[in-house]
Amino acid sequence: MIQAPRGTFDVLPEEAARREHLESQARRVLSAAGYRRIETPAFEATELFARGVGEATDIVQKEMYTFDDGGGRSQTLRPEGTAPVCRAYIEHGMHKLAQPVKLWYLSSFFRSEAPQRGRYRQFWQVGAEAIGSAHPETDAELIVLLADLLDALTVKDVHLRISSLGTPETRVAYRRELTEYLRANQDALSEDVRARIEVNPMRAFDSTDPRTREVMREAPKLLERLSDADAAHFGAVRSLLDDAGVAYELDPTLVRGLDYYTRTVFEFTSDALGAQSGVGGGGRYDRLIEQLDGAPTPACGFAAGVERMLLAAGELPVAADVVDLFVACAGEDPGANKTAFELAHDARRAGLTAQLELAGRSLKGQLKHADRIGARYVAIVEDGTTSLRDMQSGEQRETAARNVIPTILRGHWQL
Ligand code: ATP
Ligand code: MG
Repeated sequence: MIQAPRGTFDVLPEEAARREHLESQARRVLSAAGYRRIETPAFEATELFARGVGEATDIVQKEMYTFDDGGGRSQTLRPEGTAPVCRAYIEHGMHKLAQPVKLWYLSSFFRSEAPQRGRYRQFWQVGAEAIGSAHPETDAELIVLLADLLDALTVKDVHLRISSLGTPETRVAYRRELTEYLRANQDALSEDVRARIEVNPMRAFDSTDPRTREVMREAPKLLERLSDADAAHFGAVRSLLDDAGVAYELDPTLVRGLDYYTRTVFEFTSDALGAQSGVGGGGRYDRLIEQLDGAPTPACGFAAGVERMLLAAGELPVAADVVDLFVACAGEDPGANKTAFELAHDARRAGLTAQLELAGRSLKGQLKHADRIGARYVAIVEDGTTSLRDMQSGEQRETAARNVIPTILRGHWQL
């Protein structure tokens, strides 16, 4: 038996309804703030992610599905959405539009990771990017919007952590200081942290090793090294969140797995998730567009995992499938089949939901089936005659086939 690849899943109809609800909530929350939908290709030139996400990140180092497209070009299934959206912003000259350009997406992404609950190899994200604004209101607005979305989806036990990474210059100086600190304490560090001191010292804050954590408690924090301008920007974001009544925890060790962040970074987690507690996060990436050969353009965004939001969500109001009409066919002659087929088709064109008997059941079986799918009316087409049955009252009347749709639309029998 052929099965779906490890770490992937089928979205079956019951689950599709919950995802549609999520999509409509995302559209409502984001379009109300002026974000417009964008869709980029499922794969991009590998270079986009190598340059955009950062060579030293876990994503680029070990999580990408990269392949040769047959023409000698290296392509990669998108592992995230920000670099592609920035590529599109540059490619389509969106800097000529009114700034910031506010975009959102709901797309699938691909990462070669060890599959577990809430961690898959193909997964979906809702993301939003505001490109072309350096104002702290932009950062705060994105955080508030994601909080609103999580709230609308009844995602449970949500916590928000925020921090600021400053500018790349501040980070370079800080990185030197941190690297020196780690080297001076390397005997107490776990092996993987020690091996990555030079590559990515910030990741040491993520370690779960007890002795490493002890060392990191005393480590210099980037938040204490911010320039005045960066500290002021962060202060403005915080007071906007305070005013909006959004609770957060200041986490000076918050590092995100993407290299492009500057200034504000944030992450929402949910206690309902267990080990993979990250629901969504984002931040400011003021140097990314430039890094991708665009003009220097400040920007900010977030991405939230669809599956994790759904895992942590309460019961969602899923729209019931309404069947206005089931067309049963009890006739022997081909004329009855034709009438039944046309009746179902005409009903749909008139705006009703209508299903036709397609399994060759007996009339009794057809009525049972119509009841099971919750049909409001059943039209029974026989040789030469048609009757309409109101499934609620049980009342059944013989009527011309052409009267069936008007009767249903009217909602009562013509007296
Ligand atoms: P994690 O720490 O769990 O690996 P991440 O930092 O790699 O998350 P981001 O790159 O910031 O995550 O992606 C944003 C969101 O996308 C995450 O908060 C999570 O909800 C979701 N996500 C990330 N990777 C996966 C995955 N492999 N499967 C399902 N959802 C994912
Ligand atoms: Mg990850």
